[in-house]
Amino acid sequence: MTAKLIDGNQLSKELRAEFQVRVDRLRANNVTPGLAVVIVGDDPASKVYVRNKARACESIGMHSEVHAMSGDTTQTELIGFIEYLNTNANIHGILVQLPLPRHIDSRAVIEAISIDKDVDGFAYQNIGELVVGESMFPPCTPFGAMKMLDFAGVAVEGKHAVVIGRSNIVGKPMALLLLHAGATVTVCHSRTRNLPDITRQGDILVAAVGKPRMVTADMVKPGAVVIDVGINRLEDGTLAGDVDFDSVKEVASWITPVPGGVGPMTITMLLGNTIKAAEQAAGLRAGSAETRIA
Ligand code: NDP
Repeated sequence: MTAKLIDGNQLSKELRAEFQVRVDRLRANNVTPGLAVVIVGDDPASKVYVRNKARACESIGMHSEVHAMSGDTTQTELIGFIEYLNTNANIHGILVQLPLPRHIDSRAVIEAISIDKDVDGFAYQNIGELVVGESMFPPCTPFGAMKMLDFAGVAVEGKHAVVIGRSNIVGKPMALLLLHAGATVTVCHSRTRNLPDITRQGDILVAAVGKPRMVTADMVKPGAVVIDVGINRLEDGTLAGDVDFDSVKEVASWITPVPGGVGPMTITMLLGNTIKAAEQAAGLRAGSAETRIA
């Protein structure tokens, strides 16, 4: 079998066209959805991500601000700046680029973001809402992965989904979103024994590990849908996912590529969450929750 590709660039293009309509509607109501991205220090990879997020906003008529703060910014200064952004009516979403320098408590900073502007969905309240299935801002990467399943027409309900990785930003929220969509979910991690035996049971297999090409064809159930969240920079400068694309595509029914898969979807869902925050602030949104337990 040669798997069909779930193209994150194509889906992003389609979703961003829909978002453009919502941005136009907001602007007709004198509201330009605004995203503030705060970066502390000068990690080159983070700088690239931040620039891409700002460009994506501008491409659909949103307002974006990048606030680059020096690496010796104190936690008090950073939280003070977040509090200013919380009260800034031009800003509907606030994203603090992680990781932060070691002298800053990331949790304290995330919790300082107004819950209505936590478009990354990392604050405790948003995590709690995700757990009960009433999340306003699902974390962008797993939210994007769910959209990809939807786009491919994959019926999640009743399927066995196996997620490799249990981080707070990808693995755990991914498992919760799959659970709310009716999957039976198994979460694997570095202490999991007999990993291939478990991954081979997955009708849907999500890899969010950070180890280049670790998921090989023998770990995949024939006909499975494989979502590769991993982004790994190889020594030659190229990118590879956590999935060995060339071998796994011969076994899977659907597969996401790296690059051009979950990566662009993460930014797209960030735009979507920021537009949602702006609609909510402008009273232009009927419902609030994105996911609900059936
Ligand atoms: P973390 O390092 O926070 O988590 C990795 C997870 O993988 C952990 O739960 C860890 O287990 C598990 N793990 C590590 N080694 C193994 C192993 N040998 N077998 C099974 N499980 C293992 O990473 P993130 O969740 O932040 O990111 C995962 C990947 O996704 C990275 O490549 C990252 O770059 C990428 N990413 C991509 C995004 C996108 O936009 N596409 C966005 C965010 C991340 P344990 O908990 O036991 O340590």
